[in-house]
Amino acid sequence: VNLSTNELRQTFLKYFEKNDHLRLPHSSLVPKDDKSIFFTNAGKSFSINITSFLCSFSPHKQVTTIQPCIRTGGKHNDLDNVGKTPRHHTLFEMLGNFSFSSYDKSKAIHLAWNFLTDELQIPANRLRVSVLAEDQNTFDVWKNEIKLSDDQIILNDTNENFWTMGDSEGPCGTCTEIFWNLDRQDISPNHPDQWMELWNIVFMDKWQDADNISNLSSLSIDTGMGLERLASVLQNKQDNFDTDEFQYIITGIKNLINNNSTPTKKFEFNQEKINEHYKIIADHIRSASMLIAQGITPSNTGQGYVLRRIIRRAIRSAYQIGAANGLLCKTFPLVEQSIGKIYSELVDNKTKILQVLQTEETSFFSNLQRGMKILKNNVDKCPRHNLSPEVVFKLYDTYGFPIDLTRIILSENGKSFDIDEVEKLISEAKLRSKTGSNIESPMDPNEHTKLNYYLQSLDNDKVFNTFKGYVED
Ligand code: ATP
Ligand code: MG
Ligand code: MG
Ligand code: MG
Repeated sequence: VNLSTNELRQTFLKYFEKNDHLRLPHSSLVPKDDKSIFFTNAGKSFSINITSFLCSFSPHKQVTTIQPCIRTGGKHNDLDNVGKTPRHHTLFEMLGNFSFSSYDKSKAIHLAWNFLTDELQIPANRLRVSVLAEDQNTFDVWKNEIKLSDDQIILNDTNENFWTMGDSEGPCGTCTEIFWNLDRQDISPNHPDQWMELWNIVFMDKWQDADNISNLSSLSIDTGMGLERLASVLQNKQDNFDTDEFQYIITGIKNLINNNSTPTKKFEFNQEKINEHYKIIADHIRSASMLIAQGITPSNTGQGYVLRRIIRRAIRSAYQIGAANGLLCKTFPLVEQSIGKIYSELVDNKTKILQVLQTEETSFFSNLQRGMKILKNNVDKCPRHNLSPEVVFKLYDTYGFPIDLTRIILSENGKSFDIDEVEKLISEAKLRSKTGSNIESPMDPNEHTKLNYYLQSLDNDKVFNTFKGYVED
């Protein structure tokens, strides 16, 4: 069956509703009371709330959601992957089903498998799964109940198939993942890129604290599948960016650039690179719009700096392919058209989004033009492989180039720089500056090791009210 992305959203939720799951609205992209992570990066953060606080009170022990997720830092940073792999986005939607001490591994696996192979009619012989080698139980379900052949079951170690929340305290357990064979002709059949991870099914029956892992009294299930990846399977594409909702945006951007009556200079001529830039713009405009809709504004610290880095990367991609200043503002209506019906916050905050994009484009575009000239001169001159830290610092401090952006531009030219030296210059500048507070660490401000998901309180009023009712009963 060929389904649109939006038909897939509905099909997924209806399937799990039919199987006695309660459909809940998505949670906020920005965890309100948890300072340890910047953005919601999985449907899990939601489920853990429920597991910890509400599960014992709630008669609804089976839930399904579609959770928008942002992966731009910390344990999950896919910023640099965008456009380079066919399957990573900064913003994606995670289809999830959750069981709070309600069903077992076998049921979780059957639900997922039947959804893919019965409901969606995906050919089973193009799927394979991964299992933790010690997890005999899960292996037996795939082998004896689902009847997969041995070569469809890949045994892995704990790095791949044991899910934890990183270094912090919280639930954990084995997981099993379902992969799709892309059947690409351009690489060998055994190449790892033939396989795209579709669905991660986590069995949370243990608890990790500072120094050990103990058993929980019951098993909870927590699954996540990327909507955009599933859409690529159903629409017979090998690249997420070729699916309907992304193509709508990318085609629109191409039209905007080609129909520009006052063409600007183009700096990229390699077709593969040009396509990469289109993908980056389409991806980043989606995540930037959603973040602004959530109340984030560009700044030099915290979440605001992540947003700024996303927008500036997109502006730079636009610049490379010869778009005139202001492309992002013109691109927003395409996002609104494609996902505004699902995420009404985009429509409700339209004025704000356009205003923020415009301000950022106005302030960065000319700096980018000037900075790129400086960069080019210095790259041509630069003797060995390293650009001088002073130039990198100047681009950062005077022209607003995020350090990671400079790193990417340089790497395209086979160059790099000494980050320690650059950081030294930045902290010196910080000391000199009386208002040093606006100069922050330029690297990844989302680098937090201590994730405290389970303390994250419910951030969606509707979700909360749904459960509050049961708690009070
Ligand atoms: P990958 O190995 O491909 O990076 P992952 O193991 O990091 O994926 P999980 O944390 O297991 O991903 O998340 C569950 C599912 O969410 C994945 O199986 C995949 O379908 C989807 N997913 C994860 N990261 C992204 C992303 N950046 N863009 C789109 N979908 C994603
Ligand atoms: Mg990943
Ligand atoms: Mg993976
Ligand atoms: Mg995974």
